[in-house]
Amino acid sequence: AQIVQAEFIKSSVRTEDCPSDGLPEFALVGRSNVGKSSLLNSIVRRKKLALTSKKPGKTQCINHFKVNDSWYLVDLPGYGYASAPRELRTDWNKFTKDYFLNRSTLVSVFLLIDASIPAKKIDLEYASWLGQNQVPMTLIFTKCDKRKKKKNGGKRPEENVNEFQELIRDFFQTAPPWIMTSGVTNQGRDEMLLHMAQLRNY
Ligand code: GDP
Repeated sequence: AQIVQAEFIKSSVRTEDCPSDGLPEFALVGRSNVGKSSLLNSIVRRKKLALTSKKPGKTQCINHFKVNDSWYLVDLPGYGYASAPRELRTDWNKFTKDYFLNRSTLVSVFLLIDASIPAKKIDLEYASWLGQNQVPMTLIFTKCDKRKKKKNGGKRPEENVNEFQELIRDFFQTAPPWIMTSGVTNQGRDEMLLHMAQLRNY
């Protein structure tokens, strides 16, 4: 499993506006600063092939990138920006939730969780919402290379990962698949590509 080609297709603000060619897709979402851009660069391996849209405006859209002409990586708006006005935050929630519930070609939501810090309330809420609504989800733990620090609660990434899974367990019939990654060491890169290939071939 390799990404040999990826191209930006479009930005949408409504599920109905997303591409209609029926190709399977994986949506990446996480708190701002979770390490999404770094992870995407690591997966794609080409820095020039920017798979994230940091451009103002685009970050609030559903961004479709076609990979190898056969499936999509979808960049969703980050959540948890302290600075965003409350109405805006609600609005993002509304359209990403609509996308999660109604996008028939969505194979799995990749929820990015920072493994270098203890579980955050907003991440637990996001994960439990997906679980309760039976949206297929994969937990992608980021920054797994980071050493424990006093200010981060002094826990190792492995401990934070276990704790997070424990805290969301009740919201899932079966525990969601999970992968430990790092955009710095490329840990988890091959595992993610393999996981996506396996899910596409179901
Ligand atoms: P985004 O806002 O989710 O796209 O996050 P970025 O990819 O821009 O990363 C946010 C910050 O975390 C930056 O300072 C990165 O250097 C750092 N970062 C991202 N991924 C990793 C990682 O895997 N390991 C470490 N140690 N730092 C990371």
